[in-house]
Amino acid sequence: MTQTIAIIGGGIAGISTAYSCSLIDPTAEVVLVEAEKQLAYHTTGRSAALLYENYGEASVRGLTRASLNFYHNTPEGLVDAPLLSLRPLIHAGTAEQSDLIDELISDGSDGTIPTQEITVMEALDLFPALNISRVERAIIEIGTADIDVSALHQAFVRGFRRNNGQIVTSARVDSATREKNGWKIETATGEFGADVVINASGAWGDVVAKRAEIEPIGLNPKRRTAFMVTAPVAETSEWAMLDDAAHSWYIKPDGPQLLCSPADETPSEPCDAKPLEEDIALAIERINTATTLNIRSVNSSWAGLRTFTTDRSMVIGPDPDEPSFIWCVGQGGTGIQTSPAAGQLTAELAINGKPSESLANLNLEGLLPSRLRRPL
Ligand SMILES: Cc1cc2nc3c(=O)[nH]c(=O)nc-3n(C[C@H](O)[C@H](O)[C@H](O)COP(=O)(O)OP(=O)(O)OC[C@H]3O[C@@H](n4cnc5c(N)ncnc54)[C@H](O)[C@@H]3O)c2cc1C
Repeated sequence: MTQTIAIIGGGIAGISTAYSCSLIDPTAEVVLVEAEKQLAYHTTGRSAALLYENYGEASVRGLTRASLNFYHNTPEGLVDAPLLSLRPLIHAGTAEQSDLIDELISDGSDGTIPTQEITVMEALDLFPALNISRVERAIIEIGTADIDVSALHQAFVRGFRRNNGQIVTSARVDSATREKNGWKIETATGEFGADVVINASGAWGDVVAKRAEIEPIGLNPKRRTAFMVTAPVAETSEWAMLDDAAHSWYIKPDGPQLLCSPADETPSEPCDAKPLEEDIALAIERINTATTLNIRSVNSSWAGLRTFTTDRSMVIGPDPDEPSFIWCVGQGGTGIQTSPAAGQLTAELAINGKPSESLANLNLEGLLPSRLRRPL
């Protein structure tokens, strides 16, 4: 019998899951519903677009590693150009931050490409605006890359549509009711039925769960600010990304501009996040101390919500109380880079109840929702 799968949310989590569902069960009717007029309007459209394997919790790193094959061998017809361009990441440390540098080296030691120490002059060569008078030590990640986020999202859209997937926008899900023969889903534009519901609604993950009478998982959306300034040179493709050892600011070169952030994590309700002047001012102060950029004006700014669980790992898999309600939330600061494997895992757990051979090495226990529902 044909099964109907409803995916709530058209960010990177929802569309990557939709694509994988349509691949794994070509007979299924897969419908993605998005509240906004356009897909990827919220956090997905507001990221720093970095792939950084040695970042995040162990289970999240596993998802990033399992995603690499999709980036390097993207299925035929989904992209017009490579999704990644290599860009090293340098962490710079003052004399007082030497312990943090040691921690980062140890933390990145088991990556496919381990974190390595470099000289301050080598760091200056890769980021020519570094204020070397304050830097005592520097380390480099050379496996990091810029992701073309829009092309990645579009690749999943193309693949999903090619497999007859259906996308409905301006259709906020207002309720999902469990009935004898599946779910009744009411949206802003009408109602439809589904056998399985996949919750990929980002910062709204717990709101959507409540609307389906499912116990919330305990999601914490946190605002992160970003802004663009003019780079001191016309082209920065050879420049590394730079942050400080305490991750209290970062700078990511982007053509003739530099993307800057105070790396803030301010708790927020689910909303259309906006940047605050004071967060931008704080980042400028920190960056002007650590570099010779002397930033005086900002070209554009934005903010987005990075949504975390209490253990900062993702939540992927069936709800322990209602197995036809599948979670794919808690992407935090790594939802873009992990999306190929996270979408695949969500779809496999929804359709087959277990991961395939290619995802067998993942730490499933660290991802399943049941870990957050243990009795105290
Ligand atoms: C400044 C910043 C920098 C970042 N940098 C990186 C990075 O370098 N690398 C990386 O991997 N990640 C990064 N991230 C994190 C990454 O952007 C997120 O993890 C990811 O985009 C989350 O995707 P999502 O699909 O879960 O959420 P979203 O993109 O927010 O999508 C959720 C969707 O669900 C929809 N929705 C909500 N409620 C309903 C409803 N009731 N009915 C229908 N639809 C609904 C929303 O409208 C939204 O479109 C960054 C984030 C920020 C803010």
